[in-house]
Amino acid sequence: MLKSHSCGELRAHSIGQNVTLAGWVHRRRDHGGLIFIDLRDREGLTQVVFNPEVSPDTHGIATGLRSEYVIQVTGGVSKRPEGTENRKLPTGEIEVVASSIKIFNASKTPPFYINEEVDVDESLLLKYRYLHLRRASMRDNIMLRHKVIKYMRDFLDTRGFIEVETPILIKSTPEGARDYVVPSRVHAGKFYALPQSPQQLKQLLMIAGIEKYYQVARCFRDEDQRADRQPEFTQLDIEMSFVDEEDILVLLEDLFTSLVETLTPHIKLVKPFPRLSYTEVMDRYGTDKPDIRYGLELKDISPIVADSDFGVFKSAIQNNGRVKGICLPGCANYTRKQIEELTEIAKGLGAKGLVSMEWAHGNTEGDLSAQVKSVAAKYLKLEQLRALMDQFGAKPGDLILIAAGDLNLVNKVLDELRREMARRLNLCDPNLMAFAYILDFPLFDWNDETKMWDSTHHPFTAPFDEDIPLLDSDPGKVRARHYDIVCNGFELSSGSIRIHNRDLQQKIFSILGYSKEEVINKFGDFLEAFEYGAPPHGGIAPGIDRFVMLLTNSKTIRDVMAFPKNQAAIDVMTDAPSYLSDKQLEELHLKVLDEEKSK
Ligand code: ASP
Repeated sequence: MLKSHSCGELRAHSIGQNVTLAGWVHRRRDHGGLIFIDLRDREGLTQVVFNPEVSPDTHGIATGLRSEYVIQVTGGVSKRPEGTENRKLPTGEIEVVASSIKIFNASKTPPFYINEEVDVDESLLLKYRYLHLRRASMRDNIMLRHKVIKYMRDFLDTRGFIEVETPILIKSTPEGARDYVVPSRVHAGKFYALPQSPQQLKQLLMIAGIEKYYQVARCFRDEDQRADRQPEFTQLDIEMSFVDEEDILVLLEDLFTSLVETLTPHIKLVKPFPRLSYTEVMDRYGTDKPDIRYGLELKDISPIVADSDFGVFKSAIQNNGRVKGICLPGCANYTRKQIEELTEIAKGLGAKGLVSMEWAHGNTEGDLSAQVKSVAAKYLKLEQLRALMDQFGAKPGDLILIAAGDLNLVNKVLDELRREMARRLNLCDPNLMAFAYILDFPLFDWNDETKMWDSTHHPFTAPFDEDIPLLDSDPGKVRARHYDIVCNGFELSSGSIRIHNRDLQQKIFSILGYSKEEVINKFGDFLEAFEYGAPPHGGIAPGIDRFVMLLTNSKTIRDVMAFPKNQAAIDVMTDAPSYLSDKQLEELHLKVLDEEKSK
């Protein structure tokens, strides 16, 4: 190689050696005659000194060095003079005294600092992604991501899994998003779809007898880019034959626990992973992806306030809604403005408002109704107020926020407030990864817009055997053999035991509203495969980007992907998507409706 050592490698025991280093000029300091540079490569930084007395020519060249020049330096490793060691740097005891230098390439002044992690507009970071990736934080993320994927591969290999690649040009697999499609040149008017996941393919691999499959699989979903999503992302896709839920849950718990403990030992885990039912988490947290690092749990006070005269509560309950709230310890001194801010969050999600109750601190005079400040207080009997405070486990000094109305809305609002307040109260320990399994999901969700059932997970998820009779009578009550892994408030992965019987699979499609022709057209071959000895099977697919984001405590998944797209699904660096030429369009048998847009 063009270097004998990396820039992170030299130590006191290397003193006296002659070495050659190569890398980028990280920082340069001119100290009256002596020039110092920190030379950087992937592995770290080494101080290089250019002394005119050692080599005037080399020193002369070094006067022209600027940040991000790529150079090669040869010289002797010396002990740094007493008092100038840098204890923060692994190579901080030594320096290389340069005897020769070669400049491989100059560099323009970068559009942002590489040697400092200062905030810069993200579009600039994305446009010059290759420069952003030079920053230490990004380099560390990308290197850890590599280790994570390697760990996953090795772990699964020792458990008898084989990695099988599946095609990217396929026929659509439904995962609840729109497909990205690729027009066929050879077959006019026909399109491939990019996989939303390799779901059907991995099931076919089970039918093929692979038994234990995994793949570091790229998935593509054309979704509105709200929240922290990417049009393409990576899953650790897993499928196993002859298993039930327990096998998959234990496997994944072993994988995540040993991975975190090996690669990021500073991160604490909650062990064993708690297992919570869907009903329980919706009750306690208002969401199926709760952050269980902190409490602030939701309490249902509907039974307590059911016969109160407070209009907001009364009408919610009369209209089959619920009254739920959260108790915020020590927040009774929140100002009107702070409470308004929280109310705005609730309104932004569709709520009419919030009811707040402040149990004033230190005010123990008079009965409870005199101590609690709230528009609702005077409509509640003393016993009701007491029961309500008991239900929340509230103490003087606490603030209670209550939402009333449709249960889904109430849950959504309180989930958001709970997350917001945990941030404000600093309750999210960044060094804790609180995994949990969520179980017993309903098989179907009612879609109010289309007035049809949707799959909660995907159509291939098996119902519990004992719930199969309900498919005809009460589909909403059918429980799925579906499990999610959540971590710190994010859904990390979904999986399920699958249907492996043609008739049942067909029945599910018909409940989902697919016509017979559609089923044959979209899934005919898949269904036929079920008739050739399909084994019982199940799987899961943890999102690797999201997992590495949590592991590195990054703010977005973009920080753990080498070349992500921005929030509008644009690759700012290469400017994709882009227009096709008329010739390309013609070859692909395509016509762009908006003439302006074809170039
Ligand atoms: N294909 C599923 C998904 O992408 C995962 C699975 O069921 O294994 O969520």
